[in-house]
Amino acid sequence: MDLTFTPAEEAFRAEARAFLEASVPQGPLPSGDTEEGFALHVAWEKKLFEARWSVVSWPRAYGGREASLIEWLIFEEEYYRAGAPQRVTQNGIFLLAPTLFEFGTPEQQQRILPRMAAALDLWAQGWSEPEAGSDLAGIKSRAVRDDEAPGYRLTGQKTWCTRAAFCTHLFGLFRTDPTAERHRGMTYFLVPLDAPGVTVRPVDRLDGDAGFAEVFLDEVFVPDHDILGGVNEGWNVAMATAGSERGLTLRSPGRFLATAERLIELYRRFGAEADPGLRDEVVQAYLDAEAYRLYTFQTVSRMLAAGARMGPEASLNKIFWSELDLRMHDIALRLLGPRAELGEGPASVAHGAWMKGFQFALAGPIYAGTNEIQRNVIAERVLGLPRA
Ligand SMILES: Cc1cc2nc3c(=O)[nH]c(=O)nc-3n(C[C@H](O)[C@H](O)[C@H](O)COP(=O)(O)OP(=O)(O)OC[C@H]3O[C@@H](n4cnc5c(N)ncnc54)[C@H](O)[C@@H]3O)c2cc1C
Repeated sequence: MDLTFTPAEEAFRAEARAFLEASVPQGPLPSGDTEEGFALHVAWEKKLFEARWSVVSWPRAYGGREASLIEWLIFEEEYYRAGAPQRVTQNGIFLLAPTLFEFGTPEQQQRILPRMAAALDLWAQGWSEPEAGSDLAGIKSRAVRDDEAPGYRLTGQKTWCTRAAFCTHLFGLFRTDPTAERHRGMTYFLVPLDAPGVTVRPVDRLDGDAGFAEVFLDEVFVPDHDILGGVNEGWNVAMATAGSERGLTLRSPGRFLATAERLIELYRRFGAEADPGLRDEVVQAYLDAEAYRLYTFQTVSRMLAAGARMGPEASLNKIFWSELDLRMHDIALRLLGPRAELGEGPASVAHGAWMKGFQFALAGPIYAGTNEIQRNVIAERVLGLPRA
């Protein structure tokens, strides 16, 4: 495998770096999981879109640059290196969009993707329910046919919907055939959150931000053209979304490389007064981030060369990045000692970002499917072991 970037890729990197260095807001924005912070993040997304950096790998017609997957990875590295704001559009651009490219009709793609790229429509993920998290096929929210309209009436409750309190739309799974085998009777719907019958209730996270919402649906009408991938085909469509979430798009290596680089800076500052054993842990974290980067380049090269697609091995990635993220933040807190608790003031470091990052990293082994579930997937579908 040739790990040298082409002159065109190097030029792409230089252009991205120049834009980001000139444009990334000075100082961190308020949390994107609050109403005020979310609005500022959306303003940043619009700026990215205007300069054609919001969805680099998409077709030009939808606001992209038709960048290759390698260039997309380069952009991600530069994005995190520059310390640019978190992507509050992530559920749309990284989860729903790849699924729309694969399963959407041309009409859906043309209607939905440009507004998503421009941060005009903001998407939340509506999969989990109070009795169905890991066991996603256990969802009870239902969609009943309305032949007159024509379309479906959706009723039920979705929970843990990230930033749904501030979003405009929801993609979600609903049961369309209660008599079918569990995985077969579901359909993937696209729902505007201002539709009559929708109630969105914010839920505070551990850190106090309203990062979650519950979404209640009471006979919400959704027309046929907002079904993605066909009636009763929802499971297959959802698994494509999950592959993106766990494997490639949601958490690219650039994010963890940037954290590893910052961890090294932190060690340079505070290492002398820390437990000497932390030095090896910092080095190991850097090596792990670099290994994830190289592994991802290998995966992408395979996808480009052989037309392979992300399969159940996406679960390997998910475990690796979520555990690495947690390890790096844990090391940082041990380096900082009591300073880690300080959000502001002369003794604080990075506005308390390491502590906030640690709290979010704790969720990594849970969201996008818990790591226990990923281990089951690896055992059964990657290694071919018998079901437990
Ligand atoms: C930060 C964050 C953001 C999220 N965002 C969204 C979102 O936007 N949209 C959305 O729909 N959901 C979202 N979720 C929800 C997430 O998908 C669920 O929390 C997750 O799927 C686990 O479901 P649960 O919480 O119901 O736990 P449960 O499924 O009840 O699991 C509880 C525990 O039992 C274990 N367990 C369950 N079944 C098995 C099994 N078969 N084998 C071994 N162990 C098992 C689990 O690993 C876990 O440790 C988010 C969660 C977090 C933390």
